[in-house]
Amino acid sequence: MARPSLTIDTAAIEHNARVITRLCAAHGMTVVGVTKATCGHPEVARAMLRGGVAAIGESRLENIRRLRAAGIRAPMVLLRLPTLSQAEAVVSAAALSLDSELTVLAALSEVAVRRHRVHEVILMVELGDLREGILPDDLIPFTAAALKLPGIRVIGLGTNLACLGGVAPDRENMARLAALARAVETTFDLRLRWVSGANSSALELIAAGGMPAAVNHARMGESILLGRETVHRRPWPGTRQDAFLLEAEVIELKEKPSAPRGTRGEDAFGHRPEFADRGTVRRALLNLGREDADLEGLTPQDPRLTVVGGTSDYLVVEADGAPLHVGDRLGFTPNYSALLAAMTSAYVAKRTRIGAHS
Ligand SMILES: *Cc1c(COP(=O)(O)O)cnc(C)c1O
Repeated sequence: MARPSLTIDTAAIEHNARVITRLCAAHGMTVVGVTKATCGHPEVARAMLRGGVAAIGESRLENIRRLRAAGIRAPMVLLRLPTLSQAEAVVSAAALSLDSELTVLAALSEVAVRRHRVHEVILMVELGDLREGILPDDLIPFTAAALKLPGIRVIGLGTNLACLGGVAPDRENMARLAALARAVETTFDLRLRWVSGANSSALELIAAGGMPAAVNHARMGESILLGRETVHRRPWPGTRQDAFLLEAEVIELKEKPSAPRGTRGEDAFGHRPEFADRGTVRRALLNLGREDADLEGLTPQDPRLTVVGGTSDYLVVEADGAPLHVGDRLGFTPNYSALLAAMTSAYVAKRTRIGAHS
């Protein structure tokens, strides 16, 4: 078996989904399971749904179509802001999207009216992370304009944190979100079904009872897939961190000096890596490169192995005392970035297995 492979343990994902949805339910929150890091893998979505998520969240229309084509009937939420040019496709693929541009909402409304449908939206508000979102001062006029669009129904207010700016959810910004939702409700005399404040960065706040009662909706990806909260990237109690295993094959194994020799310039990717001289070491080259994964995000299963670096097509590992042979397959646990790259890479074979419950 030549290609690197990524094995997905659907029982681990189901288990993690159950832990996260129960925690959220205990604090009055409904969970959307986010499959985007797996490119909308249908078995991952099914495992999340068995584990109790109420809907599937996806960032790309292609992934939503993939899930639908596989027969998944659950509600789908489009997480990435819709593109203006794809309004038609967005209304077809998703009944609910997250939005922050009136021009786009007008286009979605036009399509929805023409199709005798209503497209539901959660308006996204910017609360410090500086990715997507309407500025709080603009929210009331924005909502007034959105409510005039006949094909659109505003059903919620949301925010996204801990993504671009690394800003964690806390009592202050969540109270701000709750207050903005209340302002929208009182100004326009309407009820918002969802106040969507949380992703995997909010688990500590939720568990500590710090989430305002008004925040009743969470979009959870990494915590279900990899079993980690995302402020400190700590394993979340009761979840499993072993749902994904990336494997590649040893194709060269030799004793080599630990430090490069010769005039040093940039490496293949424009960096100038430092290598300490630790004499001669045992090095393995694997058939795994940047076309397959984010090599900085790999943790070897065998603690005696250390990732030294890699290029487009090779991963270089130091094997301190591990009994290795050419042809061995070595396993690595991917972080979110490596998972995303491996799932997206056409060179990595994907397979699912139903592992033992632990
Ligand atoms: C990706 C994404 C999520 C999921 O975030 P996790 O940190 O993986 O839980 C939630 N909301 C939006 C808008 C996203 O794009």
